[in-house]
This record gives sequence, C-alpha cells and structure tokens, in this order.
Amino acid sequence: MSQLKRIAIFGSTGSIGTQALEVIEAHADKFSVEILTAHTNDTLLIAQALKFNPNMVVIGDEKKYQSVKEALSKTHVKVFAGEEALEEVASMDCYDIMIAAIVGFAGLKSTLSAIENGKTIALANKETLVVAGDIVMKKAAENKAAIIPVDSEHSAIFQCLVGEGRNKIEKVILTASGGPFLGKKPNFLVNVKRDHALQHPNWTMGAKITIDSATLMNKGLEMIEAKWLFNLQPEQVQVVIHPQSIIHSMVQFEDGSIKAQMGLPDMKLPIQYALAYPQRISSKFPRYDFKKPGTLGFEEPDYKTFRNLALAIDALQKGGNMPCILNAANEIAVFAFLRNRIGFLDITEMVERTMNKIPFIAKPTLEQYFESDGEARNFAATLIQM
Ligand code: NAD
Ligand code: MG
Repeated sequence: MSQLKRIAIFGSTGSIGTQALEVIEAHADKFSVEILTAHTNDTLLIAQALKFNPNMVVIGDEKKYQSVKEALSKTHVKVFAGEEALEEVASMDCYDIMIAAIVGFAGLKSTLSAIENGKTIALANKETLVVAGDIVMKKAAENKAAIIPVDSEHSAIFQCLVGEGRNKIEKVILTASGGPFLGKKPNFLVNVKRDHALQHPNWTMGAKITIDSATLMNKGLEMIEAKWLFNLQPEQVQVVIHPQSIIHSMVQFEDGSIKAQMGLPDMKLPIQYALAYPQRISSKFPRYDFKKPGTLGFEEPDYKTFRNLALAIDALQKGGNMPCILNAANEIAVFAFLRNRIGFLDITEMVERTMNKIPFIAKPTLEQYFESDGEARNFAATLIQM
C-alpha cells in the first residue's frame, strides 16, 4: 500500500478548507489530516477535529483557546492559539502538504514558513503571490518546495503544462465568468449592495473572493498570480470573459496551438488534483455533458466599467510593491463594503487613491512588503469616511 500523504489545512473552516476536507474524506486511503487552523470559528474547528483527529489545531482568536482546549480534552489533539502559532505549526515535521486556504495577506507568513521547511504547497491563497510573488517563488526554488495551484484557472494552466517540458508558452488566457454584474454599467453599479454582490452565478466561495469576482479584482489578482507561478511577462497574461465557467483557462504555445482544461465548475477538482499530483484519482463529481444544448461564449472584459481590472494590470506592469499596495487597499475596501460602509464603486476609488499615495519601491525586501502593506491599509482606512 502506498504511504498516506499527510495534509495540513490552513484555513480549514473556509470554503476551500471545508471542500478540501470533503476530498480527503472521500480518499481516506490516500490522505490523512494532520493540522487544521481557523481564525474565529471555534465550533466548526472543534467539529472538524473530532471527526478527522488531526495531530494539532490552531485557533487564531486567542480568546477561544479555552473553549477549543476543553472540547478536545479527551482527545490527543494538541491545541495552539494566536497568529504566531500559525507560523510555528507550519514549520513542523508532522505533515507533507500545506493547503494554503487562509484568505488574504494573513496567509503569507505561515505559507512562507512552510516553504522554508520544504513543504509542498497546494496554494489557494493567491494574495500570497500578489503581495510578495518574487520572494515566495525564490524561497520555494531555494527550498525545493513545490507550489501546486488550487485556484481553478491556475490549476487549468498547470494541467495544460504537464508533459510540455521546456516548450515555450506564448501566452496564457485566463477565463473569467464576469461575475453577477456582467454587462452592467456604472449607473447600475453605483447602487449595488453587499447582498446582491455576494450572489455569484457559478461558484459558491468565501465573502472576500466573491466580492472580488463581482468587481473583477479577482481576475486582476489572478493575472499577477499567473505571472509568478508560470514565470511570465505581463503581456503574456490575457483575460477573456467566458460566462459559463466550463473552460477554466488556456495556454497558447509558440506554434499557436492552444490547450484548454475543461469541466463543470467545482473547486473540489483542482483541490483534489493538487493533493494527488502527479496522479489523477477517481471522483464522483458531476461530469460536463456535451449532448446538452448550450453555447460556450467568449468576450472582451469591459475595462472601463470594471476599473479594478485595469488597476491590477497597471500594478502587474509596474511591479515592485505596487501589487502589494493594490492588494492591501482592496482588502480594506472589500471589508468596508461588506460592512455597508462604502459603495461598490468606492472600492475602485479607494484602491486607486492608495496606489497613487504610497511610495513606490522597485525591489522591496520582505520587510518592505510588510511596511507597504501596513501603510496602504492605514491610508485606505482613512478614506472610508469619504
Ligand atoms: P473563506 O473566507 O471561506 O475562508 C477563509 C479561511 O481563512 C477560514 O478558515 C478562516 O478561519 C481563515 N482566516 C481568515 N482570516 C484569517 C486570519 N486573519 N488569520 C488566520 N486565518 C484566517 O475564504 P475562501 O473562499 O475559502 O478563500 C480562501 C483563499 O482561497 C483566498 O485567498 C481565495 O482567494 C482563494 N480561493 C478561493 C476559492 C473558492 O472557491 N472559495 C477559489 C479560488 C481561490
Ligand atoms: Mg480563480
């Protein structure tokens, strides 16, 4: 029998984390759960720990340490709390693959810690590469830590590249559903409220990425993610709107041939692929049926209406700390929008003003990325009262 792959899920209570546990449960002969972490949801973390019996759990919110500790007192599960514990636990020997499924900048430190310890990273947390992609990829190469994308577009590209060796990529084509407001104009978007923006047509995801999908910032972050994962120039990364989300992305090679990866939209597929790689393993996920009538459509994004995408392309081209600034301002803006503090179009306004304000650094150190992130957050927060 082959050895079990030992899995650590950072962000196990989120959309990706819970789906990862479903994949693992369906393949208990291949994977074991060693670490689970949650930010505030102690109830779900406890339930997951009782079911999957990991080596250890981390609850981010230190006030909830006692409740988790008591609930797991009759088990052998070790309990840790706090932000620093995440980093420490990420460096431990008890696991092989980290599923990096914390949302936002908050996932960066623990992912870096895992990379420094040579772990394989199944990467959902795209913000890690947006913020400090150069440093993350360099450390991964130095420590021989493989990074396998979980984001569906990047998993598609990764799958298209298997077997291609050193064959040159001409460009990658990221598909975007267009989100719930595809075809809408600013006079509509100005009145959009949180609950409407949280309805995504094709995917059920965490709140932050759902808003990012509605503003198209998600696709902008993914362009930057693609640059780092596949070592591309900004002009080699293209976006096309494909409302059905059946083609998950494509690679065009230097002979003009295009490879696409397709399937029904279900994040469990790229999660499972990342965990099982280089093998493919069976699944019961629903299959796409070509006999059912339906068209696959493609169109250009509306960069004038969805200006977040244009801002992200700007950050991608400028490089340095600009993507980090864009990301920080966006996290603050989305958080404020989710609390009904600002309008939908204010998100773009806040990101743009922050990008214009924070000093540009062409080749930041990790410390400078952290500083830029902090400065951008502080400045963006002052705009909330605008
Ligand atoms: P989510 O909000 O559903 O879950 C986030 C997880 O991170 C939770 O377990 C939460 O406890 C934890 N967390 C949140 N803030 C934290 C903090 N400050 N410190 C430590 N832990 C914290 O998010 P999600 O939709 O699962 O997305 C996770 C990541 O995966 C994001 O980066 C997102 O862009 C990416 N992603 C998600 C999907 C999807 O379908 N949900 C698809 C592609 C990529
Ligand atoms: Mg995606």
